Amino acid sequence: MPAFWQGLSGSVLLRHSLLCILWLMVWMLGLLVEYTEHASVWFPAAGLTFAALYIIGLRIIPVLVVACVCITFWAVHYYQLQLNNWQTLQGGLLFGLGHILPYYLGSQLLRKLANASQCTLPLFVIGFILLAAGSALVTTFSVIVALVVAGMMPVSAISATWLPFWVGDMAGVIVLAPLFAAVISTLYPSTGISLSQFVGPAQRIASRFYVYKLVLNLVLLCLAMLLANYADTPESAFAIFFLVIPHMWIACTESAFYTTLSVALSSFAIALLVNLLALMDYVMVYQFAINVIAANALFGLAVPALMASNSQLRLVASTDSLTRVASRDYLQQRAELEISRSLQQSEPLCLMVFDIDHFKQINDNYGHSTGDQVLLQACQQAQQILRPADVIGRYGGDEFVVILPNTRKEAVVAIGNRIIERFQQIELAEQLTVSASFGVASLQQGDSFRSLFERADEALYRAKQQGRSQVAWH
Ligand code: GH3
Ligand code: MG
Repeated sequence: MPAFWQGLSGSVLLRHSLLCILWLMVWMLGLLVEYTEHASVWFPAAGLTFAALYIIGLRIIPVLVVACVCITFWAVHYYQLQLNNWQTLQGGLLFGLGHILPYYLGSQLLRKLANASQCTLPLFVIGFILLAAGSALVTTFSVIVALVVAGMMPVSAISATWLPFWVGDMAGVIVLAPLFAAVISTLYPSTGISLSQFVGPAQRIASRFYVYKLVLNLVLLCLAMLLANYADTPESAFAIFFLVIPHMWIACTESAFYTTLSVALSSFAIALLVNLLALMDYVMVYQFAINVIAANALFGLAVPALMASNSQLRLVASTDSLTRVASRDYLQQRAELEISRSLQQSEPLCLMVFDIDHFKQINDNYGHSTGDQVLLQACQQAQQILRPADVIGRYGGDEFVVILPNTRKEAVVAIGNRIIERFQQIELAEQLTVSASFGVASLQQGDSFRSLFERADEALYRAKQQGRSQVAWH
């Protein structure tokens, strides 16, 4: 953490002031893309309020109230409303109440959901989107009532204002709250709340293609909006929904932080271009597009997490947990594959089976955990002799199978003997010697894993019969 940031975290007053200033700046950002009084394409301050209440909780409410009162004084001046200071203060407090309380409730319900043991990322995202939409709707009506009561908005404006107000607030929360939450959780580390519970570690690492993806995204966005400006038809405005595709791509390939950053940048660019390209007639289309793109990208965040847990599952299923060599199922699959490849290309292939000698006695005399260590070390020693192309797997108990592609029987017998020598190096307990017996069979036309394994197993049986610790072949 940079020293500046660390210094900030030390002083509560400084942190609160910074948050207040950030809120006011963010509010201005909304004003930049305002299209009717009190309704902008999106309202980023709602996202900051929701995130601050989610991360910091009740104790940030006074800071947000101060920010709301400040902005009301500014708004009264900006819209040249005929209110005195006392009326403005009252209006600011009413606005603060209407704006903050619904978001407080929404954010606390989301925290409850996050703390539930069954909560997964997709469930958290659904909860977030529903609570964002719900609390934005309640905020819309409570703020409108506050503005009317304070004399800052005529009753006649309600019907035209509420829908864009709601969708704008919702966009502010869905698009920006995740990003603000990431920033606030580093500014207020003592809260102990971080989103890494859902999005995993390493969320601040971008791939080296991230900037190109971002540029491509913005270029497509500009093209879609220029098209709408040129064609000036509702159909052309709907082209913006295609941006769901690159955003989903980013969500599936980049970390959560960078996904939310790209959604925030695109949303800001959309809002700005609506103004610059005079696309006000279709503004609702763009408002809805911002919400749909953001919600979709948030769901996309679950994809890398699912992929990671799938590959984890694959690893678990393909590895023997004790010896860390291939599991029986995986070994059989690989063997079938190697056998059909070798048969097709007329290449040699051998299968070697080995079984630890008198393993029951080892267990009985030295205990099961020493027995386990024998199995593990035997595999490690064998792997040092085998080549990367060979596949070793645990067939069951103390019996192992090795597939050796591209290898003739004589070479495999030599490999078996070298492994026997290696086993002599295993020293786990006094007077404990480890040996194994080996059976080798080479691939013939028409062989399957089963037939090849049976021949190798027969040879292994002979090796045991002939006095153990030796290699026999079919
Ligand atoms: P042989 O020389 O004829 O192979 O004699 P053996 O005593 O090794 O006989 P066998 O191969 O039938 O014995 C297998 C033993 O391995 C029986 C079982 O209790 C033990 N075993 C199987 N799986 C494990 C394991 O995961 N850990 C340990 N410690 N023992 C196991
Ligand atoms: Mg044995």
